[in-house]
Amino acid sequence: MKFVNSYKDKLRKYNKEHNLKYYIDTMGCQMNENDSLKYAGILESMGFVPGGESDSNVYLFNTCCVRENAENTLFGRLGMLKQRKIKNEEVYIAIVGCMTQQKHILDKIKKSYRFVDIVLGTSCMSIFPEKLYNAIINGQDKIEYIDVSNTLEEDVPIKYQDKYKASVSIIYGCNNFCTYCIVPYVRGRERSRRPESILKDIRELASNGYKEIMLLGQNVNSYGNDFEEEYTFPMLLKEIEKIDGIEIIRFMSPHPKDFKDDLIEVIRNSKKVARQIHLPLQSGNTEILKKMNRKYTKEQYLELAMKLKQIPDVSLSTDIIVGFPNETEEQFQDTLDVVKKVEFDQIYMFIYSKRNGTVAAKMEDKVTYEEKVDRLERLKKLYEEILPKLNEKMVGKEYKLLVEGKSKTNDKLYTGRTSQNKVVVFEADDTYIGKVVNIKIDSQHLWYLKGTIVK
Ligand code: SF4
Repeated sequence: MKFVNSYKDKLRKYNKEHNLKYYIDTMGCQMNENDSLKYAGILESMGFVPGGESDSNVYLFNTCCVRENAENTLFGRLGMLKQRKIKNEEVYIAIVGCMTQQKHILDKIKKSYRFVDIVLGTSCMSIFPEKLYNAIINGQDKIEYIDVSNTLEEDVPIKYQDKYKASVSIIYGCNNFCTYCIVPYVRGRERSRRPESILKDIRELASNGYKEIMLLGQNVNSYGNDFEEEYTFPMLLKEIEKIDGIEIIRFMSPHPKDFKDDLIEVIRNSKKVARQIHLPLQSGNTEILKKMNRKYTKEQYLELAMKLKQIPDVSLSTDIIVGFPNETEEQFQDTLDVVKKVEFDQIYMFIYSKRNGTVAAKMEDKVTYEEKVDRLERLKKLYEEILPKLNEKMVGKEYKLLVEGKSKTNDKLYTGRTSQNKVVVFEADDTYIGKVVNIKIDSQHLWYLKGTIVK
C-alpha cells in the first residue's frame, strides 16, 4: 500500500494557523519503536510539531500486547486525558498497534473510553492522515476503528531520533505461532519488503550520514520466503554490504530454526555485519520447546550456537522464558545447562506471562509464581557469573565502535557500542561523535567496559 494522501495537505494548511502539537507514547518492542518514528514522520509532514506529555493536542498511543501491564498503563493514561477532553480542550486521541487487534481491548475502548477518536490496527499508517482529518476537521465524534493487517506500507516518512544509527523494517508479521506468543495474531502473516525499497532507504540513510543500521523483523531470516523468485536474507545482507557509508549492520531477530549455513558464511565473510547475533533460546529443554512450538531441540540449538561461536570475536545474545506452564525443575536445569555451555553475552529473561488468545494460555500450569521468580533469580545469578569472564577476554584487545555521544552519567566521558554490542566508555571530545573509531579495552565493569581510542 502506497503512502499517498491528500488529507496530509489539508491538515498541513490547518496547522499553519493552529500549530497543533503531538505526543507519541510507545510501548513494546523495536518494531513498535520503528513504527512510532514513522508516525512522527507522518505527523510532522502534516505540520504537527513535537509537544510534551501534558501540553499536546494529538496523543498517539502505539500499543503492545506482549506484556500484561501495558493494558493498565494505556487505560491509566487515557483516564488522565479524559479530563482535558471534558474541559473541551483541543485534544485528539489515537490508539494504534498490536493491542487494538485484540477483541476484548476494542470492546473495552468502545464501551468505556468513547472519548478516544481513532483506533487503528497494525499496518494502517497510510490511512492515519484521513482518520485524523475526520477527527480534527470534520469533528467526527464516533470512534473510527480500522483493521487492515496483512498489508505492506511503503514510502512512509520517518523521523529518526538518532543522527548516526537507524532501524529499517525488512519483514512484517510472523508465520511461526509459538504457543506463548500473540504476535502472529496481531501482526498478521509474513510480508517481506521488496529489496529495491529496502536498499533505496538504506542508500538514502547513508547519504544523510548514517553509519549503523539495524534490520528489523519478527523473523528476519524468513525474509523473501513470500517472493516468487529466490531472494533470501543472506542475499539482502550482501547487497547492503556494498552500500558506501554504512559501516555496521545489525539485525533482530532471527529464528534458530531458519538459521542456515549460507547466513553464517555471509556473517563470517562480512566486514560490516556486527559480530553479535541474537539467537532466541526461550527454553533449553526439548519437551518444553515442543510445547512452545519452537521447532528445534536442545541439541540442535547447541549445535547451531557452537557453529556461530566459531566466528571470530562473535558474541551471542538470547531471550529466555522461565516458568512456562508446568515446567519442571529438571526442565529448567536444561535451560541453565545451555546457558553454561553457550555463555551468552546478553540474556533478556522473562517470567512466562499468559497472553489470552494463545495456545499456551489454555495449558495447565502448576508452577507457582514463587517458583518462577526463584528460577529467574537463579538464571540471573548464573548469567552474572559468566558475564565478567566474557568481558575479561576483551580486555587488551581492539574493537571497532561508533561513537554515539556523551555518557549520561559523566559528561567528560563518551560512549559507544562495539560490534559485539558491548557498551564502552572512553575519553574523547565532540568531534568524535558519529565517527567509527578503534578502541582498546582497558577494563571490564560487568555492564560496561572502559577503553581508550586508538589513534
Ligand atoms: S517467532 Fe514465535 S516468538 Fe517470535 S514473533 Fe513469531 S510467534 Fe512470536
